[in-house]
Amino acid sequence: MENIEYKNCIRNQIKIYNSLKGKKELFHPINREYIGIYVCGPTVYNDIHLGNCRTFISFDLVFRYFKHLGYKVRYVRNITDVGHLENEKDDGEDKISKKSRIEGLEPMEIVQKYTLSFHEILNLFNTLPPSIEPTATGHLIEQIDLIQELIKKDLAYEINGSVYFDIKEYNKKFSSYGKLSRNKIHKLFNEKKFIFSGEKRSKQDFSIWKRASYNHIMNWNSPWGKGFPGWHIECTTMSTKYLGEVFDIHGGGIDLKFPHHECELAQAVGVYGNNKDYLAHYWMHTNMLTLNGKKMSKSTGNLLVLKDIINKNFHPTIIRFFILQSHYRSILNFSNQGLINAEKGYYRLMNAVEKLKYFSLNEKSKKNNSLLHFSIIDKWIKDCYNAINDDFNIPLLISHIFKATQLINHSINNMGSSDINLLNKYMNYFLFDILGLQTFEKKYLEDTSKKLKILTQRLIKFRREERKKKNWILSDRIRKELFHAGISLHDDKLS
Ligand code: AMP
Ligand code: ZN
Repeated sequence: MENIEYKNCIRNQIKIYNSLKGKKELFHPINREYIGIYVCGPTVYNDIHLGNCRTFISFDLVFRYFKHLGYKVRYVRNITDVGHLENEKDDGEDKISKKSRIEGLEPMEIVQKYTLSFHEILNLFNTLPPSIEPTATGHLIEQIDLIQELIKKDLAYEINGSVYFDIKEYNKKFSSYGKLSRNKIHKLFNEKKFIFSGEKRSKQDFSIWKRASYNHIMNWNSPWGKGFPGWHIECTTMSTKYLGEVFDIHGGGIDLKFPHHECELAQAVGVYGNNKDYLAHYWMHTNMLTLNGKKMSKSTGNLLVLKDIINKNFHPTIIRFFILQSHYRSILNFSNQGLINAEKGYYRLMNAVEKLKYFSLNEKSKKNNSLLHFSIIDKWIKDCYNAINDDFNIPLLISHIFKATQLINHSINNMGSSDINLLNKYMNYFLFDILGLQTFEKKYLEDTSKKLKILTQRLIKFRREERKKKNWILSDRIRKELFHAGISLHDDKLS
């Protein structure tokens, strides 16, 4: 009985909440065997924070699940390495150039540094690398081609070396701008955060190419002079280049729904005329990770990075587990207590996994397989798949997995070998292949904690020496940094 492959029967039972339609829909891929997913990646000028990680972990789960079901998945996640402005009337210094000035590095050194850091962080969370990771700077020619196409179709116009997407023309031809964010465009555009450049025909038009001001270091030649592409055009260009004019799933955080995704979609509809399909069939948006009730965000500084948590002695897999315990469409507030609970739960699961492994490898069970145990396990497997299929209801999946630990703890001694093997196989599928959890030795945490202790002691010793040299500025700075890390020093008078 253990050879039943449940996953073969459930491919056509997946429901996804489609933001475009505002409801759950049965998922039908465009091609039976292939799935194309595009997820907006980071702008690489900083270490990503845990909020960003939540979004990338959520889509990692989607990627893993489709792969688990045997689909050939092409997962494209871009790297935004063109510096964009905070708003249209900015002084011309983009985020990457600003960082390069602060760190004393070339903009492309900043891009390289934070792309590597991005990979390293996601790797610690055990997220799988995407199938293609295209960069904006690697696709300038394609972006310029797409902009020219929009100009040819009268959907974009050039003014003073910048090119803008013409919303009025678009609405005349397609009347669908605002489809994704549910037509609240006027309200949204009136929000204070949108500061408009005066040269546009209409305030809702958005830039697809921007002329570079004298201090905008990251710029390229174009038919309109030196400048740089708009953020939205990059994603339309790269998603359609690698996945086709219309593909299966487009994803990102809910904060990108407007204006970024709305504009991506309008550009694609404008160029390819796919008015019915809207770039992707299914649009998935993850909700925000908050800290103290407010969105975690680079710009406000209300954030935690992975290092902050590792310093508290939590393994990255615990953070992953904590993140997955709430549904991707719900807001999740970060809390220490949440991590502590996730850690307790994780160890409970791993104990059950160890027990199962021991029984399936070492003990040739003398007990007979019983129909009762098989039917319990059979129902449990179906419940687990049903939970995932219901718009990736991972919290429900996890609660089913906890139920299995009770079965293991109470009944494993009475189970036959094939029941144990079946349970073992699916526990491994759910916990490791799909949830992407990792086992780790407690030694990992002990080692980190030991290293931290040594590092702190060395820093304190170094500071003492600097004080002796009367290097007050440095010693004071170290004292403050240690204080922020929760270590307060009381200085004796120097003799
Ligand atoms: P960014 O580099 O700011 O464009 O962000 C990269 C990805 O992280 C995008 O998909 C964002 O929607 C997502 N993101 C940003 N902040 C958060 C947050 N606090 N919680 C969840 N996802 C976020
Ligand atoms: Zn994007």
